Amino acid sequence: MRGSVPRAADLYPPNVVPAQDGNGRPGTSGAGQKLNHSKPMPRPASHRKSQHLFDHWKQVQRRLAAAKHLALFLDFDGTLAPLRPRPADARLDESTRALLRRLARSPSITLCIISGRRRADLQKRVNVRRAIYLGLHGWERDTGARSAIAARGFLASARRLLTQRLSDLPHIWVGDKGPCFEVHYNGASGATIREARTIIRDVLRPLKKETRVLRGRKVWEVLPREIEGKGAAVRALLAEFPRPVLAIYIGDDTSDESAFQALLDGITVRVGRRRRTRAHFELCNPEEVSSFLQRLEAEVA
Ligand SMILES: [Mg+2]
Repeated sequence: MRGSVPRAADLYPPNVVPAQDGNGRPGTSGAGQKLNHSKPMPRPASHRKSQHLFDHWKQVQRRLAAAKHLALFLDFDGTLAPLRPRPADARLDESTRALLRRLARSPSITLCIISGRRRADLQKRVNVRRAIYLGLHGWERDTGARSAIAARGFLASARRLLTQRLSDLPHIWVGDKGPCFEVHYNGASGATIREARTIIRDVLRPLKKETRVLRGRKVWEVLPREIEGKGAAVRALLAEFPRPVLAIYIGDDTSDESAFQALLDGITVRVGRRRRTRAHFELCNPEEVSSFLQRLEAEVA
């Protein structure tokens, strides 16, 4: 599947171009994945507000009680750990870590941490031994990378060129993530963001076929096509699970939308208030995610 169809609009910051439909076309709806779906969830749609998870707790409880096994997918930044202007400063609360360790020990739960971060970095920050870690939107797994990156050299050149050309713009900086990179614009003015966007488009024009740009919170991620996104990664991992399994996915960003779409039969939760999401439910912040995990622990105990 194509995780997210790249669009020029992905290059635009939210304050320049109105959001369209989250993370592009997430591909097939997960048909063929025989997931546990005893009760239909509220219909996810990109044109309505999602609903607070705790307001529908009884319904969720019934699904949890009926499930034989849970695949619990959790994003890191903005979901488990509060967002920080610099990703290097994001920290997991010790009580959340202890909670994750207890959940990972449960025989009825497989805990999967999925992030745009490198896998090694993610594993170090979460530090829960029994979890499965999916880095670079699921492209990096414990079994290694899912495919080779054909344009890796070109991407590295583009990163170096952008680092140079963006260096004079205040609050704009380039982060290297190996086979991909990101351009952060937290704190930059609208004019600066527009200027950065023009430079990025200019530099990436020759690589249009090999790359796509994913817009996150105050960041543009420049990804090779081979990194299909979280939706594709979640589907691939779930295909290895014994049936039946109920998938729960919690994430806060545009990059999580393809996973919400891939898990229409699961329980999907978007963190933070969003006008448009494909998730069934919403939670307000990482504190509420932690509260949900406590409720989940009580249900599976
Ligand atoms: Mg996130």
